[in-house]
Amino acid sequence: MAENKKEFTILITDDEKMNVDILGSVLSPMYNILISRNGQRAVELAKEYAPDLILLDVLMPEMSGFEVIAKLKESEATSKIPVIFITGLSNAEDEEKGFFLGAVDYITKPFHKTIVKARVNTHIKIIDQMRTIERIGLIDPLTKIANRRGFENRLNSEWGRAARDKTPISLMIMDIDKFKNYNDTYGHQQGDAALKTFAETAVGSLMRPGDFTARWGGEEFVILLPGTDINAAAEIAERVRANIAAAVIPADYGAETRITVSIGVNCAVPGSNIVSGDFLSKADQALYKAKESGRNRVVKHEE
Ligand code: GH3
Ligand code: MG
Ligand code: MG
Repeated sequence: MAENKKEFTILITDDEKMNVDILGSVLSPMYNILISRNGQRAVELAKEYAPDLILLDVLMPEMSGFEVIAKLKESEATSKIPVIFITGLSNAEDEEKGFFLGAVDYITKPFHKTIVKARVNTHIKIIDQMRTIERIGLIDPLTKIANRRGFENRLNSEWGRAARDKTPISLMIMDIDKFKNYNDTYGHQQGDAALKTFAETAVGSLMRPGDFTARWGGEEFVILLPGTDINAAAEIAERVRANIAAAVIPADYGAETRITVSIGVNCAVPGSNIVSGDFLSKADQALYKAKESGRNRVVKHEE
């Protein structure tokens, strides 16, 4: 973190100018600092800038720190921002209330600069590590694209968005053909190289930044295409299929190996009459037909 000092932003909220100045001077060498002198402004700044951590005074005129944290917890955009109370209230009940409301720490005034700095650094470190864990947990280590969990997260949010906007969303489920043979012939390591090439080629075949590719598991992949109808999705699937068939998989010994893929495509306009599980299984049925009818092809789900 030392070389990358200003990666994190801290919002300091206190009605007393002196406290804000001291905290700001202690923390500004390491962090970007936002300042607010009242609770209302703190909530606004939190929404606008999504700081990584909030230092919050409790006793302030108009809106107390306890009210501020309650407001932050109400909104999805701010509910997960960690809050440290810095306050003159030092009895156990107040401290308990602070934690009950969701604070991560509680520092009493008069505070010592070095202690505030140490506690803030500790929390920033925790936040940083949590983010790394989350990121790793959603990415497939071999292909470096999203894994199934990453896909499910994205499907959830895109499904909700498409339902609100009443727009179509399409899905391709892809399964590499006779991949067991490929592994048996060229070895598991070469199989892994093929999976990497597959992911790169699939991602490289997409045009829109919202298109989302994930490894579903094994030699199965999915692509989510928000705002795309079934015919456009089938065209994109055909492009992916052709690019995969043409891609040469790098091999140590110079042999040119290739793979092919079968793809099932489905489209839906999310609404009360359809659940995302059906959406997936219909794409899967189309994939099954693609396999059955000879592989290396695209099949659309037809109602
Ligand atoms: P089909 O055309 O019907 O899909 O035949 P297939 O051989 O691809 O299907 P099957 O499901 O029988 O085999 C999938 C193979 O994928 C088996 C497994 O060894 C291989 N595989 C799954 N995950 C990995 C992986 O991470 N690395 C490698 N190298 N191979 C994998
Ligand atoms: Mg399979
Ligand atoms: Mg397969």
